[in-house]
Amino acid sequence: MQVYRPVTKPLKLLELEALLPRLHRDSEHYDYIEELLRKEHAGHQGELNLNYFFHLIEISESILLNGLRLPTSNNAFQLDALLLTPNAHYLIEAKNIKGTITFNEAKQLIRTIDGIDEVFKNPQLQVNEQVIHLKKFLHEHNFPQVPIHPIVCFTHPKAQLHVDKTHSGIVTSEQLPNLIRELSRHATKPVLKSEELRELAHTLDRHHTDYRLHFTQKYPFVSGHIRNGVWCTSCKKTMMKRDQRTWICKGCGAKDKLAHKQALIEYALIYKDYIRNSEARDFLRVQSTSTVKRLLTGLELPASGENKARVYSLRKLLLE
Ligand SMILES: [Zn+2]
Repeated sequence: MQVYRPVTKPLKLLELEALLPRLHRDSEHYDYIEELLRKEHAGHQGELNLNYFFHLIEISESILLNGLRLPTSNNAFQLDALLLTPNAHYLIEAKNIKGTITFNEAKQLIRTIDGIDEVFKNPQLQVNEQVIHLKKFLHEHNFPQVPIHPIVCFTHPKAQLHVDKTHSGIVTSEQLPNLIRELSRHATKPVLKSEELRELAHTLDRHHTDYRLHFTQKYPFVSGHIRNGVWCTSCKKTMMKRDQRTWICKGCGAKDKLAHKQALIEYALIYKDYIRNSEARDFLRVQSTSTVKRLLTGLELPASGENKARVYSLRKLLLE
């Protein structure tokens, strides 16, 4: 198996991770952001857990793509994991929730912990919808159609599945390799050639568009509740102070010449992917224009405009 797209943290998760520690506790958005971060983190963890089990499948010719988000005519659809093979594709929706999992008569997913029921969207309907979108995508890009198997995979080690046989394609991560091996045994002879399979992976990857929350753009007033400063890169508890040549943490005593780089990444995630000297002075909490100019040019950021209007692009930092 070739991993074409490894599991990486999506920008939405990075944005929430940058935002929450800087958000004042009494902001009206705090609880919402905290809950969103918890969910995104669980989702990412699920993809990581899932990835481990893929390596046990051992289908000779297969390509794995994680965390794809592909455009549709009016929106986008998301694929937690997609395993491409020459005669069938496997589309996996990862659910990283613990507790006892059942389906009720209305086909809703019910999760029970300590006697308390919680209703979730039916992941089978979700994954079936994704199959329809993926078929359309393959058709539009002139790739041969092969069967696409929708699979819902419960990745949390403490998920207890109570699902009868009418719900096919629902497994725990331990059962996933077996299910895929079983399905691949029934597959017909190869439809896609090796080059076509690689071309397909490349095309899918090229159409991936990361989802951004852009929370501060949707709620501009939230900016008044966001702390500026350069977090200590060692203890991550205190804001560092700029000395002559370096950043120093008053809390743990750590020194880091490049601490502003991480802060600027956080700025790009929270606000926008370009910055002016005056904005950087505010965010880094440095008064000197020339110091900030030195810090920004030192990172070799592409810049345009002159003097006060000079704008530095932070895109490079986000891609690293
Ligand atoms: Zn520190």
